[in-house]
Amino acid sequence: MSSIIQLLPDHVANQIAAGEVVQRPASVVKELLENAVDANATDIKLIIKDAGKSLVQVIDNGKGMSVTDARLCFERHATSKIRQAEDLFSLATKGFRGEALASIAAIAHMEMKTKQDQDELGTHIVIEGSKFVSQEVAVLPKGTSFAVKNLFFNIPARRNFLKSDTVEFRHVMDEFQRVALAHPNIHFTFYHNGSEMYNLPAAGYRQRIVGIMSGKTNEKLVPVNEDTEIINVQGFVCKPEFAKKSRGEQFFFVNDRFIKSGYLHHAVMAAYDGLLKDGSQPSYFLYLQVPPNTIDINIHPTKTEIKFDDESALYAILRASIKHSLGQFNVAPVLDFDRDSNLDTPYHYKDVEAETPTIQVDGSFNPFTDDKTNQHYSKSGSGSGSGSGFSSGSNSYSGYSKRVEPTASWESLYVGLDLDNVESVESSPFTFENEEVTSSLFNDDEVEQASQKTYQIHKKYIVSPIKSGMVIVDQQRAHQRILYEQFLLNMTVNQASSQQLLFPLDLFYSSGEMELIEELKPSLETTGFVFEEAKKDHIVISGIPVNITESEVSIVIDQLLSDLQDGIPASSYSQNDTIAKSMAKSLAVKTGSYLTEKEQDNLVNGLFACKDPNISPFQKPTFITMRVEDIDKKFAL
Ligand code: ADP
Ligand code: MG
Repeated sequence: MSSIIQLLPDHVANQIAAGEVVQRPASVVKELLENAVDANATDIKLIIKDAGKSLVQVIDNGKGMSVTDARLCFERHATSKIRQAEDLFSLATKGFRGEALASIAAIAHMEMKTKQDQDELGTHIVIEGSKFVSQEVAVLPKGTSFAVKNLFFNIPARRNFLKSDTVEFRHVMDEFQRVALAHPNIHFTFYHNGSEMYNLPAAGYRQRIVGIMSGKTNEKLVPVNEDTEIINVQGFVCKPEFAKKSRGEQFFFVNDRFIKSGYLHHAVMAAYDGLLKDGSQPSYFLYLQVPPNTIDINIHPTKTEIKFDDESALYAILRASIKHSLGQFNVAPVLDFDRDSNLDTPYHYKDVEAETPTIQVDGSFNPFTDDKTNQHYSKSGSGSGSGSGFSSGSNSYSGYSKRVEPTASWESLYVGLDLDNVESVESSPFTFENEEVTSSLFNDDEVEQASQKTYQIHKKYIVSPIKSGMVIVDQQRAHQRILYEQFLLNMTVNQASSQQLLFPLDLFYSSGEMELIEELKPSLETTGFVFEEAKKDHIVISGIPVNITESEVSIVIDQLLSDLQDGIPASSYSQNDTIAKSMAKSLAVKTGSYLTEKEQDNLVNGLFACKDPNISPFQKPTFITMRVEDIDKKFAL
């Protein structure tokens, strides 16, 4: 058989290599910005059109290239940044592989203009799909300009794979922010479809962070500073009370390069130990400098991961220095979310003066007489006498339930009941009528009965007797369902009413977030939000939906922004749906909230007035029912 192996032509090899380097317009942005930084530019302009799909242009005032280099830079493995393998261990540049320009040129229309300071004239090159189209001498300012047009023009499959402009723009924004944050000493400007997104004059770290994030960021930042032999840490972390739902604003830079590190992230989170609400994420901007020979940045093709020689020492130093900063700025002792809420005074005991305990001796007490005495005894002994409570309860369940109100003392009888037990009841073999439940189960008669008695257990479920047995409602999911249907109805059918705010609310956002909010505005207005004219970095809200409070506004919007990180759905129907879901998520009562009897009632009734009471907006069951026969079976075991 004849030989079958052939060397691939260069342009095919380049196209294949491009797949690794260039996934989307943002990859081009990253490579071009980094090249400009490596060329020692002090002024860098990024201009994109259609989220970078039609144009990515980067103009710098850096050192430029000679005529020969201008041609050579498009060759694969053509780099001025390393000469030998050892150089990899003392890297001071972003690039070193020499494949970015070759890769981009293979899959786009590219134009380059470049001139060195000492040269009279510059070079203008046009290259399309790896083919040189023209090379001319031109009068140019010092520096280099790359324009990349029609990305993936020759690989339609890749082009179709690109996401919506909103999503691609977010990626571009991420890359821009990472480079601009790493190099505050460089003046950056950024234009999208002709409008200025950023104009960031050369500055220090703090000003640059504030310039990129938003005006309000300044007051949230706590400086971190630590200098040791193996690492220098500088930068800022945010005060715990400003922690967000999303992980958007978390940045590590190692030797001026943005990196991701789950391990170092963990060190930061450990420094916040006990200061953050569950699941909330602090912003941080941390600049680490380490000797270049103690890291290996070669392990990931897009180079956002890094290997350190002595990770555990870095972990300890980082954690300690952040902890120190948080402590120094007096943020540590103020908040304590770790507190066990079971130890808090129940809401309805607040503001009630403590009574001096008295001993009641029931002179007529005789353990050998009838029920009446027992009842009396169980009532006064509600706090400690679970044994007596039980004996009274065992007389007759229904009798007991009529006598005892669902108060804290009632609840305290069940303090010892652990959640595992509750779950084991749920997962026990007998069947619940989950699917069979229809609204007929809740005919008027039954709903009325349901509304007579509801009990909250474990600040999580509402239990209510119904004719056929009992219903157990998950309070959080039920409330999500109710709110979701309300919002959706308001958005699609009714014009929601709003409450006018006495003082309009100013909320600050980064420009990426501002873009999202602009797009969402029409839908948000249908829920009852009233916006005044938007400013560059903040929105002014003068009216809010009737069913939310002023303090919930920023929570709702933060949640919305984090839910929409992957882009805003195209159709207005799914846009409304997403907003309604997100708002229901942030506004619903949570597991762990105490509900008054009235609130429990409203919740149960509200749920069964819903169109689709069986499931939460996130497709989870909202309630289960247990028939008396099921309970009987359980007792017969
Ligand atoms: P790398 O950055 O890994 O060296 P690239 O393909 O990105 O590889 O660039 C190839 C070479 O082209 C660089 O090493 C550099 O010498 C030159 N170059 C690229 N962009 C610029 C620029 N903006 N200014 C000056 N030289 C540049
Ligand atoms: Mg490069």
